[in-house]
Amino acid sequence: MRTQVAIVGAGPAGLLLGALLHRAGIDNVVLEQRSAEYVLGRIRAGVLEQVAVDLLREAGAAVRMDELGLPHGGFEMAFGDRRLRIDLQALTGKQVMVYGQTEVTRDLMAHRQASGRPTHYEAENVQPHGYDGERPHLSYRHGGSERRLEADFIVGCDGFHGVCRATLPAGALQTFEKVYPFGWLGLLADTPPVNDELIYGHTERGFMLASMRSHERSRYYLQCSLDDKVEQWSDEAFWAEFSRRLPADVAQRLATGPSLEKSIAPLRSFVAEPMRFGRLFLAGDAAHIVPPTGAKGLNLAASDVGLLARALAEYYRGTGPGRSAGIDHYSQQALARVWKAERFSWWFTSLMHRFPENGDFGLRMQQAEFDYLCHSTAAQTVLAENYVGLPLG
Ligand SMILES: Cc1cc2nc3c(=O)[nH]c(=O)nc-3n(C[C@H](O)[C@H](O)[C@H](O)COP(=O)(O)OP(=O)(O)OC[C@H]3O[C@@H](n4cnc5c(N)ncnc54)[C@H](O)[C@@H]3O)c2cc1C
Repeated sequence: MRTQVAIVGAGPAGLLLGALLHRAGIDNVVLEQRSAEYVLGRIRAGVLEQVAVDLLREAGAAVRMDELGLPHGGFEMAFGDRRLRIDLQALTGKQVMVYGQTEVTRDLMAHRQASGRPTHYEAENVQPHGYDGERPHLSYRHGGSERRLEADFIVGCDGFHGVCRATLPAGALQTFEKVYPFGWLGLLADTPPVNDELIYGHTERGFMLASMRSHERSRYYLQCSLDDKVEQWSDEAFWAEFSRRLPADVAQRLATGPSLEKSIAPLRSFVAEPMRFGRLFLAGDAAHIVPPTGAKGLNLAASDVGLLARALAEYYRGTGPGRSAGIDHYSQQALARVWKAERFSWWFTSLMHRFPENGDFGLRMQQAEFDYLCHSTAAQTVLAENYVGLPLG
């Protein structure tokens, strides 16, 4: 089999790239190791930046998002007994869109099916080859037989544990990593959200986030120990702890119910440089991870593939040697944006979580930072500008 662009991974990065390339008339095939149902069953991100919203619209996969998504013009911060609303709309003229990653994936899957471009789910042992030469290809096993997919380019959209980054030769990559000493325990429930807007909370018992997926579905998080096991947390224990960490007036409105999903995610910052090796590109979580504070993971995946789709379209439209300029700059351009999102996610995580190992001095620094935010429109603007997302470039 032959295609122009072979994409590994049918998460949001892979599917959105496929949709944008299809829009540009570029043939592409997606290989995914899991089943479509498994991919749809993963509960993850829920807040989209303007850039991601625009790319979904550009791809022609935004009809349901525009109908069902919830535009948010601000969010709240609670720090001890103090509160601050960050007015995104007033500070930046922009909003974010609350719309779950599961729904984004569902929309992109439906769009792909309608486009007729193939996705091979349950593709086993996918391996990239020949990307340092002119004839890259993927080998894999599907439906009981060995297959080979030849392409002009391979794009690794296969997440943090994927195969593309892992098969690069030692020394080809420089990696940067910070692992945080806690995780997030998340609970999804069909209960009306406790607040119209998200609340990020720093409490003496640890961080909490009151988020949502719709007017009927809540997504709540608690900072927890890395030693915690999800089985230790009954629904009752979660609700009791969550209620303690909410501001008292908000806690009175908390509606509880059985969890649809509960999971613990470790928090990590990670970047692999560069994001291109000959005819192999990395995009999304395959190249970088951010802690979820500030909701940048899915959005970075979208902006990477937005840049790459534009560069590939330029390559296929062009004729002379200049047609490679976009793909030659992809890594540098994407990483410039990635590092700014890494910085913001690290900063927001550092401000809003409890770090007992930083002692009283560390806590005073956090309190001073929050106090500064409360009194400085400039500081709030910096936060808002990063939260709604920096321009694609
Ligand atoms: C538990 C959890 C909670 C999260 N919560 C948030 C949040 O609240 N807010 C936020 O902004 N971000 C969150 N994120 C991050 C966000 O979900 C990711 O940044 C986003 O999914 C990145 O998309 P992606 O397509 O790059 O990678 P992925 O979504 O990981 O997709 C990669 C795909 O590649 C496939 N794959 C992997 N290996 C292979 C292989 N060898 N062959 C073929 N296919 C392969 C995988 O099965 C997967 O479908 C969370 C992540 C996790 C893990």
